[in-house]
Amino acid sequence: MENLIAYFETIPSSHRSLILVGGITFFWVLEYIIPLFRFDYRKFRHAWPNLFFTLTTIIVNFILAFLLFMTSNWTLQHKFGVLQWFELPLWVQVCIALLILDLVGAWFAHWIQHKIKPFWRLHLIHHTDTCVDTTTANRHHPGESVIRFACTTLAVFLGGVPVAYVLLYQSVSVVLSQFNHANIKLPDVLDSMISWVIVSPDMHKVHHHYKLPYTDTNYGNIFSFWDRIFGTFSVLEPKKIIYGVDTCPEVDSQTRIGRLLTLPFKGNKHLEKTIEKKDAQG
Ligand SMILES: [Zn+2]
Ligand SMILES: [Zn+2]
Repeated sequence: MENLIAYFETIPSSHRSLILVGGITFFWVLEYIIPLFRFDYRKFRHAWPNLFFTLTTIIVNFILAFLLFMTSNWTLQHKFGVLQWFELPLWVQVCIALLILDLVGAWFAHWIQHKIKPFWRLHLIHHTDTCVDTTTANRHHPGESVIRFACTTLAVFLGGVPVAYVLLYQSVSVVLSQFNHANIKLPDVLDSMISWVIVSPDMHKVHHHYKLPYTDTNYGNIFSFWDRIFGTFSVLEPKKIIYGVDTCPEVDSQTRIGRLLTLPFKGNKHLEKTIEKKDAQG
């Protein structure tokens, strides 16, 4: 465990890039072997906007990284946060850090984006992919990346989390997000067993169903039990799943990057309908 943490303390950017690219490549190939849906799409053309948004996510996180470092250093210096208040074995510390980062930095960050109107406008871009595959994992509007970054920083503050643990969490998160977005079909028993601990492909696909109430369920990123604890877990047979957003049918996987970037800031009647509908449900 010491070696693992020491590695993530100084993980080179090239290794982080390798994890990202290696993950996409692995699941990309797996999608040919065990596809969930046989999309009638050109895989590279579909991937382009999603890879663009992956790049903007990296840039946003890179620009803001100093805030996360400062927050972490401050908690360590002032002995503030859950990990700093108790003397715990290293492996327990790491587990608690992963849980806090996943709950506050990912589950909560995702939940508020479905519940707060301006945030939903940004997060909508993720849901407009009508051919969800491994490249959809980081289809996040830059504004959404800022919200996610702020929640991760909040998690670091509350948890008193050292930066090495954040880098470990982010590396695991990248690969597992690619895994649960991948257009792959695992055996039903395996998928449902996995979904008791981590978010499985079938579980996250339900979140991408085009209609409420399914869109507002299964918010999990790494761990699936938050949704079971907070009553937002749901199941829907994969063959019944239709991707997209029902009130925003004119935006899909084919929509150009420029339009996706400006969509949250435009008075769009479909967007308003989407928001009103979510209000009515919530
Ligand atoms: Zn969502
Ligand atoms: Zn998703």
